[in-house]
Amino acid sequence: MCYAIPGRVEAMDERFVTVDYFGEKKRAINELSDLRIGDYIYAQGGYVIQALPEQEARSILSVWKETFFELQEMDLQLSRLDMKDRGVDKKTLRLLDKAAESRPLSGEELYHLLNLENDHERSMLYKTANFLRRKHLGNSCCVHGIIEFSSYCPRNCFYCGISAHNNKLARYRMTDEEIYAAVDEAVEKHGFQALVLQSGEDPEFPAPRLAGIICEIKLRHPCLIFISVGEIGIDGLRELYDAGARGVLLRFETSNPELYQTLHPGYSLDSRIAHLKAAYEMGYLIITGGLIGVPGQTKRDMLNDILLARELHSEMYSFGPFIPHPGTPLADKTVAPVEQILNTLAAARIADPDNAKILVTTSFETADPEAREKGLMAGANSVMLNVTPERFRECYEIYPNRAHLHESIPVQIETTLNLLRGLGRAPTDLGV
Ligand code: SAH
Repeated sequence: MCYAIPGRVEAMDERFVTVDYFGEKKRAINELSDLRIGDYIYAQGGYVIQALPEQEARSILSVWKETFFELQEMDLQLSRLDMKDRGVDKKTLRLLDKAAESRPLSGEELYHLLNLENDHERSMLYKTANFLRRKHLGNSCCVHGIIEFSSYCPRNCFYCGISAHNNKLARYRMTDEEIYAAVDEAVEKHGFQALVLQSGEDPEFPAPRLAGIICEIKLRHPCLIFISVGEIGIDGLRELYDAGARGVLLRFETSNPELYQTLHPGYSLDSRIAHLKAAYEMGYLIITGGLIGVPGQTKRDMLNDILLARELHSEMYSFGPFIPHPGTPLADKTVAPVEQILNTLAAARIADPDNAKILVTTSFETADPEAREKGLMAGANSVMLNVTPERFRECYEIYPNRAHLHESIPVQIETTLNLLRGLGRAPTDLGV
């Protein structure tokens, strides 16, 4: 199972290497001391993950070569843009034209696009976002795995089913050995090269313990580790970076400080943002974003959320709908309409056309079974598969009836690959 095809190192300068994929050049950060020009490597999330023997690489590439160009061709066909549309308001058409030319849009212009309501105009918005995705980032689609290793959490996030509000949830925490076994399976059996380790803010997993776990994983496997454990503290972030973590998934949830306070009494948006800024300074890849349609959020907030994610140097934008959980104070609230979710993904793509990975979240998939296809055709280019052992998944109930809850890892992989192939996407992360 191959999520990243091998590339050949063409040039090296200090931290970076240039990698060739069938003639396409990508740059990636290299931390392997013995890497040489001409070596074949796997890269993931902009990092060189490992080198592999030339013969093995050549044989994988010979199988891939035809498919690689076929997929690109299909993607090209599906992402063509025809701007000569009569049914679209002049202002909208002008803005979409501007976006398609990769000229930066002002906040007000993005706001206009984010709030398009007419079906026809929306469809043009999604097509423009999809066009930009292909133009700048090609047909690669990130497929990260996520392991949810503990559902203990003392925090009081109003929307979250694993928050302290929910006293009905059977909590679990995986042992270190169980975490290693889940990682071994994801990497060795299924070929994942990028894994997110996620949990509540479990006091049983302080930074030194997490650092030990990350060190052990890095000793066992070449893979890219993202941590998603909430606010571990700036020193904690440093400790986990030194242990080998290279990415942080930490949503700021909402860019509106008052709304943040309402949803997280006693906690501050500033502290969340300080973590994200410090993590970026340390060299972490940043995945951040927020909730779409959380009660109290305005349309302005939504725009500001996208702009904040960009300001925080998101390498991946993670925006998903709020889904009410019966064990929380927001139990009786509703989910945002699918169109609002798609508008957000498309506006994020237009705000950051040439850099962003944009995730189709599991919450979106829970709100709409066709979310992946719709999202990937509206500017998104990333998905995450749940590789938590099945026996624990039900207890990580951030919201009810999560998509793929009872799907085995092989089934998730197969359905994802089939969907990606049908859309002309390569399940590979070709680096920065
Ligand atoms: N403790 C970690 C992980 C939290 S759970 C942290 O603080 O980052 C991961 C994400 O799930 C959260 O960032 C939140 O945005 C999302 N989430 C929680 N409850 C949700 C709900 N009811 N609907 C949709 N997303 C939710």
